[in-house]
Amino acid sequence: MNGNIAQVTPPGGTGPWRRLYDEIGKLLFENGLEPTPQNFDVCHRYLTANDGELNSQVERAIKAGGLTAVSVASIIAQRSVELSADDLSVMASGAQNQLDKIMTIVLRSGEDVRSYGNALQENHEALQNPETTVTTVADLVALTRTMIEKSREVEEKLRSSADEITSLRDNLAEARKKAETDPLTGLPNRGSLDKRLVDAIEKARANHTPLSVGIVDIDKFKTINDTHGHLVGDEVIKFVASLLHKKDSERLFVARFGGEEFVMLFENEDPVAAAAELNEIRERLHKLELKNTTTGSKLGRLSFSAGIADLTGREGSSQILKAADTALYRAKNDGRNRVYIADPNE
Ligand code: GH3
Ligand code: MG
Ligand code: MG
Repeated sequence: MNGNIAQVTPPGGTGPWRRLYDEIGKLLFENGLEPTPQNFDVCHRYLTANDGELNSQVERAIKAGGLTAVSVASIIAQRSVELSADDLSVMASGAQNQLDKIMTIVLRSGEDVRSYGNALQENHEALQNPETTVTTVADLVALTRTMIEKSREVEEKLRSSADEITSLRDNLAEARKKAETDPLTGLPNRGSLDKRLVDAIEKARANHTPLSVGIVDIDKFKTINDTHGHLVGDEVIKFVASLLHKKDSERLFVARFGGEEFVMLFENEDPVAAAAELNEIRERLHKLELKNTTTGSKLGRLSFSAGIADLTGREGSSQILKAADTALYRAKNDGRNRVYIADPNE
């Protein structure tokens, strides 16, 4: 026993494990990849999992010149639905490494051009002398050939690095968007709301501008699910999301909070103005006679209740959300289909 490290004998003996470690190590090493969890995971899956898509992505990368940190990041990005901040930062540093490599290539090629220029300068005098001209010309031709080969190589490396960076950037942007979007409604999800709320609070405090937050909850939604089925329930959530989202702008941010609940951030608006906007949407929704387009059956009148709170007297995002939720709870208790503003003590 060595310190706190206990030796564990893997199930099934050491043979196949040992071989797998060797193969993963070889793949990492041959491609100049650091043994990070992401790189290890992609190599491990490539060698063990029967995952056709991943296999062809890895093989495509190897064919295109090698499995680099960027191509691994790109493979992960293409496959990820939910990416953690850590994953994104590992990918970003992969891209940074690739950019560093490009810079090295550019700097080195600058040096090559400089030494080529220096050689021409140095040989300038020798070229004037008929006795040394022949060997000097031969030297210069050799030097020129090397220079051309080098610049071709550099051009190729730059092109493939630029392609990789572009595809990584596209994949990252897509993965980030996926990670921040609610798949049912297409609205920003809760994670995205949390970030936006923290930013909005900071901005409102710095600029001394009002900020109101509304929580909207569809009334008696369970009855819709129970009477018409979950799929119709989904359509109702999407429909209400679209009504709320219609007013989305720089100033107004709408996110799906979860289930049949939404959160709206009204920047630069006090709770009375925010309540007026929400009441207008609420009335519009309640006037509609919705029906299931497949079966023709009526859904009855829909409504929602909402609670609104602002920053005044409240510390941060959790307090403001809690106050809005308490006001929402009161609205429900008082008969639903109404918008309440949180009391100062809520
Ligand atoms: P209240 O007026 O008090 O808000 O009553 P309610 O029935 O709307 O409230 P409750 O919170 O009891 O029910 C919400 C339901 O929403 C429960 C859950 O099954 C359903 N739900 C949550 N997420 C989804 C979803 O994505 N799709 C569908 N169809 N239903 C969902
Ligand atoms: Mg609810
Ligand atoms: Mg509800």
